[in-house]
Amino acid sequence: MEYADSDRANELAARANALMEEVVLPLERERIGGMTVSDGTVSDLRETAREEYDIYAPQIGEAHGGMGESFRDALPVFEEAGRSLLGATAMRVDAPDEGNMHLLELAGTDLQQETYLEPLVEGDLVSGFSMTEPMQGGGSDPKMIRTTAERDGDEWVIDGHKWWTTNGVEADFLIVLARTDRDAHPYEGCSLFIVPAEADGVDVVRNVPHMGGGTRGSSHAEIVYDGVRVPDEHLLGELNAGFLHAQQRLGPARLTHCMRFSGMAQRSLEIAKAYTSEREGFGSTLSEKDSLRHRIADAETRLHVARTAIRDAADRIAVGEEARIPVSMCKVFTASVVQDAIDLAVQCCGANGIGRDLPLADFYENVRAFRIVDGADEVHRRVIARHAFEDVDEAELEPLTRFGEPNRGGAGGR
Ligand SMILES: Cc1cc2nc3c(=O)[nH]c(=O)nc-3n(C[C@H](O)[C@H](O)[C@H](O)COP(=O)(O)OP(=O)(O)OC[C@H]3O[C@@H](n4cnc5c(N)ncnc54)[C@H](O)[C@@H]3O)c2cc1C
Repeated sequence: MEYADSDRANELAARANALMEEVVLPLERERIGGMTVSDGTVSDLRETAREEYDIYAPQIGEAHGGMGESFRDALPVFEEAGRSLLGATAMRVDAPDEGNMHLLELAGTDLQQETYLEPLVEGDLVSGFSMTEPMQGGGSDPKMIRTTAERDGDEWVIDGHKWWTTNGVEADFLIVLARTDRDAHPYEGCSLFIVPAEADGVDVVRNVPHMGGGTRGSSHAEIVYDGVRVPDEHLLGELNAGFLHAQQRLGPARLTHCMRFSGMAQRSLEIAKAYTSEREGFGSTLSEKDSLRHRIADAETRLHVARTAIRDAADRIAVGEEARIPVSMCKVFTASVVQDAIDLAVQCCGANGIGRDLPLADFYENVRAFRIVDGADEVHRRVIARHAFEDVDEAELEPLTRFGEPNRGGAGGR
């Protein structure tokens, strides 16, 4: 399906597609079967993406080692990258580093950008974003945050317990959300800190065993911060504006998740169409069975609607809107579309869909988290519903709910 993307976006997408077809997918085929790739392979992939295909960190400014493309023009690159679990890693548009790079670019000081952002873009560092806490701390309701940071001279002392910090085991530094003003509402009393992983008191307890991970493999760590001291310069962004900055990170990051995952859905449908076009049974190819054709048609339709909605939300962000409601809508809808598309592809491919010769099993395991991570479905629906009911004007209710009854007065009544 073609979209009204700019010439520049199409040019970037073509380069990303060439990298995927010529390098990433062949490598994926070699590595498939639950194997993870080594750090050396990741470095090689990134070098190839950068040097030979000129497609690397398109979303980051040139001053920091990226390509300086607009969010909107980078969009189809994220979609292409999502067609393999290795794609985003290769092009350095991989979560959570991608969201952390965006935040450091937006809110970091010159020193923070030099020390953390630029090596992160290069791929020399790995980062984590540490916000979610075990029961009864911050999760779906982030106001329940318990981690604190107390000022002591020109240092901050951080105490707390986090988990599900993606990359937490491998991370060189962590961006940690903590309460800095206990008297204020959490939305006005929390701040973000850059915490080096080797700082005293950072205890990476474990990689929480989990479903998914696939060819790249990544940890989701439980981490205790026990009296961790960081200097004032490690405050990221404004004091007590941690939630604001987290939103600045999470809004676009939710949308880039949607872009990558829609690429995964596209690839799943490509595989389903290829398999069913080749495989014969009951006197014809499977692709000639209407029951499968119609389900593929529905999946294609829903994916197109998702990709159109993602473009609409990206356009709004590009002109400076927060686009909270469109982003929440994209998040809930795309997660459902992608999950269903992968499930359909598994079904279409029969036992091959379950096996690991194809990437579908890895996709299937990875997509499930998308309905929980960065805000569960119910949390985004809550936001959308609140907005929907805000528009209800009580003065206008009666005529709306009395449809069909005689019109009591007013011009045009009979
Ligand atoms: C793969 C993965 C990677 C992650 N990476 C990170 C990371 O890098 N950094 C980080 O900080 N966190 C990360 N998380 C955590 C993630 O952001 C949280 O899991 C998510 O915000 C939900 O919080 P919770 O797990 O505490 O669920 P809970 O708050 O315990 O909620 C449980 C369930 O209850 C339902 N629910 C919640 N609220 C409502 C409501 N108001 N109405 C109805 N139902 C509701 C939802 O279905 C939800 O899934 C990751 C999670 C996963 C699975």
